[in-house]
Amino acid sequence: MKHSIFLRIFIGYAVVVLFLGAIVTLVAPGPMKRHYIQEQETHLEHLGALLEGPVVASLAGSDAQALEDYIREIGRKTSARVTVIRPDGTVLADSEKEPLDMENHLYRPEIFAALRGEKQMSVRFSSTLKRDMMYMSFPLRSGDRVVGALRLSLFMTDLDRLFGRLRSDLFQIVGLVTLLALGAAFFFARSISKPLREFIDASAQVAAGDFGTKVSLRQQGEFKKYALSFNAMTDDLRAMFQQIRLQTEELNSILASIQDGLCVLDADGRILLSNDGFRRIAGAGAVEGKYYWEVIRSSKLAEVIKGSRGSRRAVSEEVGLGDRVFSSSITPLSSDDRSVVMLRDITEFRRLEKIKKDFVVNVSHELKTPLAAIRGFVETMEPSAGPENRGYLEIVKRNTDRLIAIVDDLLVLSKLEDRGVTINKEQVDVHALAASIVKLFEKPSADKGLAVAVEAGSELPPVNADPYEIERLLINLLDNAVKYTDKGRIVLRLASDGKTLTIEVSDTGIGIEADDLPHIYERFYVVDKSRSKKLGGTGLGLSIVKHIVQAHQGTISVKSRPGEGTTFTVSLPVS
Ligand code: ADP
Repeated sequence: MKHSIFLRIFIGYAVVVLFLGAIVTLVAPGPMKRHYIQEQETHLEHLGALLEGPVVASLAGSDAQALEDYIREIGRKTSARVTVIRPDGTVLADSEKEPLDMENHLYRPEIFAALRGEKQMSVRFSSTLKRDMMYMSFPLRSGDRVVGALRLSLFMTDLDRLFGRLRSDLFQIVGLVTLLALGAAFFFARSISKPLREFIDASAQVAAGDFGTKVSLRQQGEFKKYALSFNAMTDDLRAMFQQIRLQTEELNSILASIQDGLCVLDADGRILLSNDGFRRIAGAGAVEGKYYWEVIRSSKLAEVIKGSRGSRRAVSEEVGLGDRVFSSSITPLSSDDRSVVMLRDITEFRRLEKIKKDFVVNVSHELKTPLAAIRGFVETMEPSAGPENRGYLEIVKRNTDRLIAIVDDLLVLSKLEDRGVTINKEQVDVHALAASIVKLFEKPSADKGLAVAVEAGSELPPVNADPYEIERLLINLLDNAVKYTDKGRIVLRLASDGKTLTIEVSDTGIGIEADDLPHIYERFYVVDKSRSKKLGGTGLGLSIVKHIVQAHQGTISVKSRPGEGTTFTVSLPVS
């Protein structure tokens, strides 16, 4: 395994080298031989062309001995066998044999062709010399007449011996070259496999978490570049992991310092991470890996978590766990299916809130009777008081009325804020209700020279609501409209789209500055204190209106322009 890269490269090269060596040794002699024969052919052809003239001349002179000598000399000088044949097939001269010992050559294929005027080449066994020969025959012409044939031959056995030697030389050379190539392949394979091995070992070390691993820079070329990048990469990785470790430590200390309970859930509701606060609330040690419902048994919390995961939106709800109350907020992480659960203990906060509310309710109740008594006595004293004292009694009465109004409003607010109290809903004909309430304001508005009107669309559906609370809502809005309008008109508009009923109260009064608009629903918030006081305002009216709207799952909005008027729009769900 350790040498697998080396072996693969080396064996690959060795196979290629041996294959090429084998091809050269086995295949190369064939084409070389063909080429050599072609060369010999050309050589014989040229020789034939040279000899044709002198031989024809000798034939004409009929000096057989001279021709014989000439032919033998040519045979010696050219290492080719030269034969001259008469048209009847008898051999006239031959460079190797005595012509008289030679049989008639008329039916040798190359002679037969030459005597018919054709040049021919053939390789065959010579029955005269008992060896394979290569023959090239030429017709000898005198004018148009064929006067004989000239045949040039080469010994194929020489050729075979030559090529046998050539093959063995080739074999030795190829063997030597192969050995050298294998040696080179060995060093080449080692020069590639060694750095590769080093990179592989270094990568394995990095994968195992050792980011201090470095590869040596001894290599050249691309390996050196790779080594540089690899070392730079491990440096970056080390820095990155260091940063991640620091961030994780930082996060863990932040989580530990948070008093609230915090945990991260995976897609299945399993706890991935939690802080001490969460484990304290759960009353368990290790909670990681458990399902949240195993750790905190609360159907309400399970419902809230499911709701948030289903809608992929952050959800906040109050949850009771044992005798404690928690504000839970579930936030889905945008990156995946995990969600963060945060539990804040608000038991103490709720207890103080209840004490405050009880206090307000108790004080209000306690104040009601003495205030009613004061008012009663003031009214009793009024007829018998002198003109001077009557003025004082008037001031006492006005302030008592204001106190009574504040106490009443505080009691109403406390009731509306009490979560335990559910409102009694029934089908309410808001149009009829509005018409009767507007009547109450006809006199005070007429006194100020204001017109009051109800404008309603046809077929308004009844609203599922508490009629007393809707009445209180309309009275508060209309009362404000009359109070803060000096001229013009007040209109109560009703409209519905079938799903919601819209109540709009608009006036042409003093309006509200943009800066004050966000605060007008706050308790005791009044824009102009002296004016509000003078008009008997408590600063609680709009607070009550907002609570009533919320108790009916409705919405309220306001549009106002100072000096031009104000419009309050309340939307209530029909069912
Ligand atoms: P108040 O009893 O003082 O009227 P509210 O809670 O009803 O208290 O209203 C809060 C403040 O909002 C008022 O003091 C007043 O300044 C402003 N406001 C309410 N309604 C109107 C209105 N229709 N036009 C102008 N100002 C208004």
